[in-house]
Amino acid sequence: MKILELTFEEFRETLQAGYRKSGDDVGRVYRSLFQNKAPSRNSAIDSPAASELFRFVASILELNPGEIISVKTDGESTKFITRLQDGHEIESVVIPMATHHTICVSSQVGCRIGCRFCQTGQMGFHRNLTTEEIVGQVYAAKFKLGIEARNIVFMGMGEPLDNLDNVIQAVRVLNDQRGLDIALRHITISTVGKKAGIEKLAKLGMKGLRLSISLNAPNDRIRARIMPANRISSMKTLQTTLLQYPFAKKETVFITYVLIQKINDAYEHAMELAAYVKSIPVKMNVIPYNPRSSSPFLSPSEKEVRQFCDWLAECGVFIRRRRTKGQDMMAACGQLGKISQS
Ligand code: SF4
Repeated sequence: MKILELTFEEFRETLQAGYRKSGDDVGRVYRSLFQNKAPSRNSAIDSPAASELFRFVASILELNPGEIISVKTDGESTKFITRLQDGHEIESVVIPMATHHTICVSSQVGCRIGCRFCQTGQMGFHRNLTTEEIVGQVYAAKFKLGIEARNIVFMGMGEPLDNLDNVIQAVRVLNDQRGLDIALRHITISTVGKKAGIEKLAKLGMKGLRLSISLNAPNDRIRARIMPANRISSMKTLQTTLLQYPFAKKETVFITYVLIQKINDAYEHAMELAAYVKSIPVKMNVIPYNPRSSSPFLSPSEKEVRQFCDWLAECGVFIRRRRTKGQDMMAACGQLGKISQS
């Protein structure tokens, strides 16, 4: 029984249908596996308080969050590398916020989208992560690093909408109140803007789940240059898809705009961008580019970043200028994936 792939209801049904086990202890056992100290087969069996059910569950439990093989911190962000059972390695980043922690999780080993500014994009695609491997990053952070997350962002390695079934099941498990209990409004799925995936997400009706679009350009010409995915699906298609998205009242989509010097940071780009998002309820996150290794692109200066934000704000765009965190250890946005040198 892969516990990290099961919501409480699925856990209960599995015990009932597969093993004819039920009763009040089912909820206690599930809670214990996700909320107590790191459970292992032995600690569960040895626990003096363990019921017969707990011991039974422990005997069929599979718990493979992966092995954390490296933890690096710059005094602020913490990047950890997990080795999966097949030997692949993935990266996750813990970002401290004012009152809580955000964990940036990976959804794939590598990525097939190939954004030119992104480190992961240079790795190519290896495989999708399972639900267990996605939830395992949050679980391992909690029990192995002692870091409890309140926010989860799917902005690590991979395009989450290319692995939507496993990502959504991971969201359900992370959100389960009897388990890790992370509110949907604290979970963000970030995508380059795949139409079919966004529409599927909309149909799921997971109220509160946040959507973030990695836009990074004001027009198709620039976007296709830095994000090859745009050659298949245009910004107009993305705009129409977002306009049809069933946002709840006051709900917004996050737009991420990685600001790259002399590529997408001019005055006319800000004007074009403001016009593009005008009819969509957005919050814009402007992130100064963190160069990947051997990058052909440059970071903007602080003055250029401020100037660009001001131009957008003057057009009435709700904007947040994001500070780059984790740059020195290649843990910042768009820098995950250079594992061998981490
Ligand atoms: S930015 Fe995201 S979608 Fe683009 S290559 Fe990197 S991981 Fe993939």
